Amino acid sequence: MKKFLITTLLLLGFAVVGASAQTVYASEKGEKYHTADCNLSGDANDMTLAAAKKAGKKACAVCKPESHFKDKTVRCAGKTADGTRCKRMTSSKAGKCYQHKGA
Ligand SMILES: [Zn+2]
Ligand SMILES: [Zn+2]
Repeated sequence: MKKFLITTLLLLGFAVVGASAQTVYASEKGEKYHTADCNLSGDANDMTLAAAKKAGKKACAVCKPESHFKDKTVRCAGKTADGTRCKRMTSSKAGKCYQHKGA
């Protein structure tokens, strides 16, 4: 029984993490929802993507929140010529940008 509880809690924890990864920003009267860094998000409140859709809001065409969630962008694992970590972001499976992919 105890094991079952722990498993449930773990699953719940993952569900929460998953949901918070899909946070969008929309003002109460706005028709569109945005990512956090969109210029148009203005005085928006944060809400889950699901909640925004339920409220009849649509994805902003400028920041494209949906594609934001789809690509798992990570920082490139490669190193630049001066030995510092590459600053490029990449969504490639290798975790490296186009410049470091072959290296
Ligand atoms: Zn936007
Ligand atoms: Zn790189």
